[in-house]
Amino acid sequence: MPTPADMNPDDLARYSRQVRFDRIGEAGQARLLGARVAIVGCGALGSVAADQLVRAGVGMLRLIDRDFIELSNLQRQTLYDETDLADGLPKALAAARKLARINSSIQLDPQVGDVSAGTIERLCGGCDLLLDATDNLETRYLLNDFAVARGVPWVYGGCVAAEGVVLGVLPGKGPCLRCTWPEPPVSASLPTCETAGVLGPAAAIVASLQVIEALKILVGREDELAGLLAVDAWTGRLRQLMVRSGGRSAECPCCVGREFPFLRGHRGSATTVLCGRNAVQVRPATDQPIDLPTLARRLPGDASPRLSTHLLRFAVGGLTVTVFPDGRAIVQGTSDPAVARSTVARYVGA
Ligand SMILES: [Zn+2]
Repeated sequence: MPTPADMNPDDLARYSRQVRFDRIGEAGQARLLGARVAIVGCGALGSVAADQLVRAGVGMLRLIDRDFIELSNLQRQTLYDETDLADGLPKALAAARKLARINSSIQLDPQVGDVSAGTIERLCGGCDLLLDATDNLETRYLLNDFAVARGVPWVYGGCVAAEGVVLGVLPGKGPCLRCTWPEPPVSASLPTCETAGVLGPAAAIVASLQVIEALKILVGREDELAGLLAVDAWTGRLRQLMVRSGGRSAECPCCVGREFPFLRGHRGSATTVLCGRNAVQVRPATDQPIDLPTLARRLPGDASPRLSTHLLRFAVGGLTVTVFPDGRAIVQGTSDPAVARSTVARYVGA
């Protein structure tokens, strides 16, 4: 583990205000400089969390996102600007480009990919902490399975409209996601960014609370975690629903029963309706890369395929299809998984 003796004068100057905060100090800063963190999702929560962790000096930050930048992201996804939108970059790469200008001493590892049961080991393995910045419950239950099975801490965060929830999970020591909510709620019963919208300042508050919990874990102050936090940014109400390690369930199927159905791939689907958009992601059954130039040549000319280094986009039947090198496709113009799946099967292959 790195010690204060490993810090150079530049580190001491850059992080001086954080080091002066007595809960971190030089010893905590040295631990941060040696820490490896993965952020799962580079949207609103991920933008704020990545910015803060890079400025705080975590040694390595992996940026995982499956999507590209859209105009409606700029209202709250603070790492991106109009130039990134015009460049048509995947979010993970645009985020890394911006973050490298903020702190060039941090090792950044952008990964354009979808976290699924088949990819989570490759995408999230080898880290000291996972920070959830996804927009869907399926991925969160998968992250919880993975983190508890491997004994890796993770910080859950969710935000819709002006409200949000945060929970730092210490496997085996405090409550996990399924201690609190044993089964994922039926998606249709919950408000989403699509139905209820989301405020940029609310997302920034939720992500900031997540980063505070992450910092406690990374500097070795796990016993100071706040428990389950619920915030309403509009009314200004912040509630602490469980105190510290309280709230663990003796019947938890995950951290007590050691059942990991999401990690084993028994749960979870190949298509995902994307929150806040008229779009569906179709995920291939295997984790095989796809040759985009070959696919582009195979497409009909009236699909007007446009190929860049990182993705292939074409239009068919009023739908826009974006294909990534990892074989995933996002079909815009429909929220019907069956339509998306059949379009992808027809033009990209099953
Ligand atoms: Zn549990």
